[in-house]
Amino acid sequence: MTKKVIVIGSGFSSLSASCYLAKQGFEVTIYEKNSTLGGRARQLKKDGFTFDIGPSWYWMPDIFENFFGDFGKKTSDYYQLDKLNPAYKIFFKDDVITIGDHMDQICEEFERLEPGSALHLRNFIAKAQENYKIAIEKIVLRPGISPFELVTKDTALRVDQFFKTISQQVRKKFKNPKLIATLEFPVLFLGAKPSKTPSFYSFMNFADFGLGTWHPQGGMYEIIKAMEALALELGVVIHTESPVEKIIVERGKAVGIITKGAQRTADVVLSGADYHHSESLLNSEYRQYSEAYWGKKIFAPSSLLFYVGFDKKLNNIEHHNLFFDTDFEQHAEEIYDRPQWPKDPLFYVNFPSVTDPSMAPTGCETGFFLVPIATNLEDTPELRTQYFDLIIKRFQERTGQDVKNNIIFKESFCVNDFKEQYNSYKGNAYGMANTLLQTAFLRPKLKSKKVKNLFFTGQLTVPGPGVPPSLISGKLVSELITKSN
Ligand SMILES: Cc1cc2nc3c(=O)[nH]c(=O)nc-3n(C[C@H](O)[C@H](O)[C@H](O)COP(=O)(O)OP(=O)(O)OC[C@H]3O[C@@H](n4cnc5c(N)ncnc54)[C@H](O)[C@@H]3O)c2cc1C
Repeated sequence: MTKKVIVIGSGFSSLSASCYLAKQGFEVTIYEKNSTLGGRARQLKKDGFTFDIGPSWYWMPDIFENFFGDFGKKTSDYYQLDKLNPAYKIFFKDDVITIGDHMDQICEEFERLEPGSALHLRNFIAKAQENYKIAIEKIVLRPGISPFELVTKDTALRVDQFFKTISQQVRKKFKNPKLIATLEFPVLFLGAKPSKTPSFYSFMNFADFGLGTWHPQGGMYEIIKAMEALALELGVVIHTESPVEKIIVERGKAVGIITKGAQRTADVVLSGADYHHSESLLNSEYRQYSEAYWGKKIFAPSSLLFYVGFDKKLNNIEHHNLFFDTDFEQHAEEIYDRPQWPKDPLFYVNFPSVTDPSMAPTGCETGFFLVPIATNLEDTPELRTQYFDLIIKRFQERTGQDVKNNIIFKESFCVNDFKEQYNSYKGNAYGMANTLLQTAFLRPKLKSKKVKNLFFTGQLTVPGPGVPPSLISGKLVSELITKSN
């Protein structure tokens, strides 16, 4: 008899799991609280401008290709991918670094700032490439059940890299603070400070310089549209505007959910909503992790975001722009060590309309501004305005142009929205960080230890934050469900 799976949420991880489960012959139904799919990767369309609300960096194209490949498809069946050149630009107080789409160009840029550094860079990226291969082929595809999953011949040879940090490794060979910041940037996607992230994660540097930065024409939401199309093709049923209010457990077994006051039964319940929230849908005796447990974990930052429509094309910008013109250490402390609104924050600006005209009306620019901040900060309209003024002023100074009077509209998104729209724990933007003590089997589990037939997926569980890991998380949990049913 066909078994029924209810999936809570429609982020990357839920959509991924739904596709795999439907392919295995399960009857899959998604219940999503919001009116559109995609979770943190939803889209905002306004006055001819298109914004990706969350993720904007398309890294690790191989993972996306593998996902669609598992269903006999290619990404090109759904969207057109372009490799960005330059990949991105970093603004410092007194200089700008441009990262090209090829190691030769990047090495030239490194030599300009620190003669002799190109050779170190090539060695560093060669090691990062080895780590990438090991991570993708041997570690990331394990379900995080046992510590032995991490023990392979390759990891045993690199055990020191799990105890040294990426900061230490980078500083051994590079002295120029701008190059250090450039090489520490990729691990910020993992949600913790580079000084808390194991150097094994240098595989993110290979993802950056080795595999490059890509853009799906039309924006990141094209991936969600592709996954929705695939899910529907595989027979998945999708309900939006259907917040799940409760996970029903009978005799220690998940047997369904309650949404909009109605009971829906299933053989398996899988939640892709934030793990902490998912467990709050259970009676307390069925929760595996206490408030104290969550309170001790290192979470990835929250973000203050602005979606801005400009009525002109802007100068001196690229598709991706990092503003590292203030003190990174101080900002990192204000995120992780002494949580507070940052005095002088670093920020990131995405202008997809620079390379993709479909994202803005002719002669206009679509701008997405992101300031990483600590989770759970006070979030008021006044603070949002204060920070917008601060970053727009710095943006104007660094890029040498006036843009403030060319803003047609701006929308913002911050801690309160993360909580309200995604039931995000403390308003985190991208889940639980990947530190040594929050890696693999040390993360919240895909399978409930207390409730039979209850599973979890997404950026708070295995393997971790980011779009590619969320795709993998969906695959891993679908394998566990298939095995136990
Ligand atoms: C601002 C920002 C920038 C980012 N940038 C990048 C980037 O450039 N590159 C990258 O790879 N990653 C990036 N990320 C991370 C990436 O977006 C996430 O890791 C990924 O989208 C998480 O997917 P998920 O499936 O785990 O969770 P989500 O996308 O959060 O999905 C969870 C879903 O569950 C739903 N839900 C919650 N509660 C309920 C309920 N009770 N009932 C029903 N549904 C419910 C939510 O509405 C949501 O749709 C970024 C994230 C943010 C926020």
